[in-house]
Amino acid sequence: MKNLKDLQLDELEQLMVSLGEAKFRAKQIFGWLYSGSETFEDMSNIPAALKRKLQDAGWGTGSFKAEKIQVSKFDGTRKYLFRLEDGNAIESVFMKYKYGNTVCVSSQAGCRMGCRFCASTIGGLSRNLTPGEISEQILAAERDAGKPVNHVVVMGTGEPFDNYDNLSKFIRIINDKSGRNMGMRNITVSTCGLVPMIDKFGKDFPQVNLAISLHAPNDQIRSKMMPINNKYHIGELIAACRKYAQLTSRRVTFEYTLVKGVNDSVAHALELAELLRGMLCHVNLIPLNKVEETGLDTTSREAAEKFLEVLTGKGIPATIRREMGGDIDGACGQLRLGGKK
Ligand code: SAH
Repeated sequence: MKNLKDLQLDELEQLMVSLGEAKFRAKQIFGWLYSGSETFEDMSNIPAALKRKLQDAGWGTGSFKAEKIQVSKFDGTRKYLFRLEDGNAIESVFMKYKYGNTVCVSSQAGCRMGCRFCASTIGGLSRNLTPGEISEQILAAERDAGKPVNHVVVMGTGEPFDNYDNLSKFIRIINDKSGRNMGMRNITVSTCGLVPMIDKFGKDFPQVNLAISLHAPNDQIRSKMMPINNKYHIGELIAACRKYAQLTSRRVTFEYTLVKGVNDSVAHALELAELLRGMLCHVNLIPLNKVEETGLDTTSREAAEKFLEVLTGKGIPATIRREMGGDIDGACGQLRLGGKK
């Protein structure tokens, strides 16, 4: 079935015109799609004949219902498993923070980036998610949790910049004032470092937050952890980030997963501080979350705190990320294609 949620407002307008309908119907339908009640029956101001025309032409509203919901005992984090029309299953996470509710969405079913420490890439890439499939994760979580979502992080399964066209459509769709009206500044996109897209993203979406999965202070370590580093070396990546920060005047967030004996020493922290010196940035330290297949260990509490102290001592703003949903395998790097068996 074709999904109305894959369409930007202007595309929905074109569809109305092609069906011989008035253009203003597009705005009405678009409003319904992001209103929390979105079935054709709910759309009370849309003529039955138009609804039938849409259905006959194969259009649906693309709503998901979670196949499985796990709730963390510690922090109320909720992890969803959504079954897609073609049988693929993806995961998303709802989190409560002091500053509001956040949903972490997947951008692909699986991932082909091959990072050694991450569960999302273990089964490889199945396919890109459509714009509507990305938005629907937010809407479905919102309906389930019964609370509005204020922030969206594209940090679930998949590499968003490997699905750039659908990612950008998704951002334009949920940002549209006639629909979900999610502020650009309330959206964060995380990438493992597809360098050419960083520049493009800064130009296309200067207000959307950018996070970079860095995880190492030099090429030697990063190439072992993240195959993408063989294509775009750390020097190119950091140069692109410096350019982005200058262009947008926005702070770049660097995610740095601390793996015991791999990248978590004082020497590594000093090297990282040198690498990032003078850049408008923030480092988010993430003690490695357990992914059994990787055989890697998390850093110790002491090593994480020492690492933080070294960075901040060198003037690099940094924090240790609070783990959410660890007891339901819903923390960073634990989401996977098809869910955990
Ligand atoms: N592909 C994008 C989006 C994923 S965001 C990216 O790489 O940025 C998920 C974040 O969690 C990334 O920073 C990723 O590197 C990190 N991560 C992956 N596995 C992890 C693990 N086992 N423990 C902690 N963080 C992990």
